Amino acid sequence: MSESLPSLPGDWPELKPGWVWLCGAGPGDPGLLTLHALNGLQQADVVIYDALVQQSILDWAPQAEHVYAGKRGGKPSAKQRDISLRLVDLARAGKRVLRLKGGDPFVFGRGGEEAQTLIQHGVHVRIIPGISAGIGGLAYAGIPVTHRDVNQSVTFVTGHDQSGATPQSLDWDSIAKGSQVLVIYMGMKHVEQIAASLLAAGRPADEPCAVVCSATTPDEKVLETTLGRMAADIAAGELEPPAILCVGRSVLMRQVLDWQALARGEAPRDLDPLRRGLPAEVS
Ligand code: SAH
Repeated sequence: MSESLPSLPGDWPELKPGWVWLCGAGPGDPGLLTLHALNGLQQADVVIYDALVQQSILDWAPQAEHVYAGKRGGKPSAKQRDISLRLVDLARAGKRVLRLKGGDPFVFGRGGEEAQTLIQHGVHVRIIPGISAGIGGLAYAGIPVTHRDVNQSVTFVTGHDQSGATPQSLDWDSIAKGSQVLVIYMGMKHVEQIAASLLAAGRPADEPCAVVCSATTPDEKVLETTLGRMAADIAAGELEPPAILCVGRSVLMRQVLDWQALARGEAPRDLDPLRRGLPAEVS
């Protein structure tokens, strides 16, 4: 454990030999870990981590063996099975295993598959949720995933299926009509096709969109654009995954809520981007 971290007060669960804790690491910033995750990191014999987990988070488990199990871009599920079976083997060998996945393990993270395999093999499991990039990453960018004046629902969508193709099984027409705000994970590779499907389904070309890359990390980049220009702007800006695409008017709120820009001393671009009227004492 890092010198600068206080020990956790109170009674915390023990990561017992032979158990696997399937744990979310949050979107990047180590401060977004849960205390249960930190507690697991401090006890683990082995940490098996994915591609998007930051090194500084692993530094909190200096006593543990660190095993990289990353895969990017929708490789076939055989490898997923290997990872799950490796977890089974480690648990059966009596290790205290922390399986650390980016964001939340049950949000587009195959955490359900891993936990199911473990339980099918009789391994004890604890599930530790994490902050998902589609919520916390947008919050870091100053975009509220729900906002009373904008949306009563939000749709989380994956832009990939298991084979790495755009999920043909997705009914983009219904998705486009289903909620005012769409949050798209793994959408960069097929952004052109995704935007075209949403436009074809009637979402306006001038609808505000944001692309939040490497959210909550030192490499965070945010692009504000529109549905009609999104694909071209991503290419022109040479933006790279991992990224969350957000489609909807809540993106406008960034003009007032970009708290990282405010912290750098910039002024809010617009105190009332949705034109709801300023509070009397401000206007
Ligand atoms: N379980 C994760 C999602 C895994 S799928 C979660 O709950 O966040 C991987 C996708 O998540 C990436 O392709 C990207 O769309 C998104 N993602 C994860 N971390 C991110 C980050 N720091 N910034 C932007 N997008 C991120």
